[in-house]
Amino acid sequence: MARLLWLFRGLTLGAAPRRAVRGRAGGGELCTGPVLGEAGSLATCELPLAKSEWQKKLTPEQFYVTREKGTEPPFSGIYLNNKEAGMYHCVCCDSPLFSSEKKYCSGTGWPSFSEAHGTSGSDESHTGILRRLDTSLGSARTEVVCKQCEAHLGHVFPDGPGPNGQRFCINSVALKFKPRKH
Ligand SMILES: [Zn+2]
Repeated sequence: MARLLWLFRGLTLGAAPRRAVRGRAGGGELCTGPVLGEAGSLATCELPLAKSEWQKKLTPEQFYVTREKGTEPPFSGIYLNNKEAGMYHCVCCDSPLFSSEKKYCSGTGWPSFSEAHGTSGSDESHTGILRRLDTSLGSARTEVVCKQCEAHLGHVFPDGPGPNGQRFCINSVALKFKPRKH
């Protein structure tokens, strides 16, 4: 009997820490963000960084556009007329998002791209971006966010050039350009 009791105690004691560990791991998984990279896992988490932390890391303009879903004034962005070869990265987390090879002049006043870096045909699963429905202006638009840190980047419209007819209308302020090394 004593032995049974000891066994029972052992099981009870053994079970408790396991539950606790699982609880901690579960909570951590949701908020590790960039490591997981899955859209679903980030959506359940506020953000990899708290708003106040982004505020310290970014300029007021960068914060307004990327974390508050703002839009820079048209024809104001530093990359609008940039024709250098290179990669446009997320200004928040440095993820590569758009290549200069797919940049074109749309005449709208914002840097425009016909596809995201990593697009294969119409498959965007290997790109650094996600599409989200945005009804904030009363009409349905498609918001483009960074897959890794959920930064608001701009919108995508179905009136672009090329076989997929996409126009990614992206704020300069949400991007960091890195020229290609020769
Ligand atoms: Zn990012």
